[in-house]
Amino acid sequence: MDIASIKEKISALVADVEEQLSRAANDNDLQQLKGSVLGKQGTLTGILRELPGLDPAERPQMGKTVNEIKEKITDLIEQKRTAIRLKATESPAGFDPTVPGFPVQRGGLHPVTQMCYDLNDAFRSMGFEIFEEDEITSELYGFDKLNFPPDHPARESMDTYWIAGHDSGSAADKLCLRPHLTGGSVRYMQTHKPPFRFVYPGPVYRNETTDARHERAFYQYEALIVDRDFTFTSGKVMIKSILSKVFGRDVPVRMRAGFFPFVEPGFEIDMGCLVCGGKGCSVCKHVGWIEVMPGGTPHPNVLRAAGLDPEEFTGFYVNIGLDRLVMMRYGVDDVRLFHSADLRFLSQFN
Ligand SMILES: [Zn+2]
Repeated sequence: MDIASIKEKISALVADVEEQLSRAANDNDLQQLKGSVLGKQGTLTGILRELPGLDPAERPQMGKTVNEIKEKITDLIEQKRTAIRLKATESPAGFDPTVPGFPVQRGGLHPVTQMCYDLNDAFRSMGFEIFEEDEITSELYGFDKLNFPPDHPARESMDTYWIAGHDSGSAADKLCLRPHLTGGSVRYMQTHKPPFRFVYPGPVYRNETTDARHERAFYQYEALIVDRDFTFTSGKVMIKSILSKVFGRDVPVRMRAGFFPFVEPGFEIDMGCLVCGGKGCSVCKHVGWIEVMPGGTPHPNVLRAAGLDPEEFTGFYVNIGLDRLVMMRYGVDDVRLFHSADLRFLSQFN
């Protein structure tokens, strides 16, 4: 290695750096350039490594030159960096910053989402975990594990959306859009150790004719407590305090017997109509009460299907019709409005 060839390499390098700098458009380009020249495997670092091969008399002078070039390149890169930043803050020609801008359209949460969040807050304050589950489920989790008899009409395609190409075989192979949330509770129970309390909100799908109170896709909000001891009365008190928290006032609640395959005993929970205060109006069909949630004690077969011993554990299910609750909150009498994506309607709730 002789001094002439090193000098040649250095001047080629400087020319190359200047050329690359003229093309660099952002910090990233500069960072790359810096690495390729000054980094551990960089060109200039490579030249420095060749110095020990020089005549000892020439080494100090050449070492000094290489270091000066290193400083020069570092300076050039930093100058370019400053130039790029200054350019980024420049206004384009003809730009007048004093002209008023366009008003920004502000979005808002959908009233069903707002209700869901309010319920989450209320349940969380009572120690519930929030659990999310897939919207596609199987016949096994949608029906079998929930004590639905094999010939239950809800299994038919007139009630359930089966997934094409996955509608035969064993119950675990047959897939559908979840017709209710309850199947998710079994998955949770199978993977957690009781006692536990959790909620699992979300959309469910039924192949139904739509009317003012029914939609093909709608929102449910289900809660389950499993413990060694849990009474109906504590369930009723819990529901009452959740509803009172969400509506910000005392909400009357009543329970009636009801039948659902996954509970035993089962019940319907009604809340006093808040639109008319119980006197009777079109929203409550003039009875003063609105049916908002079925529920009950988990059926022993459901607990068994989830791997729990019904002799040891009991619990409390509630399945809140989220849309129904939102209708009650705002006195809206047609559920389809909430799914209409009509901004004239929805923007009222922002
Ligand atoms: Zn009413």
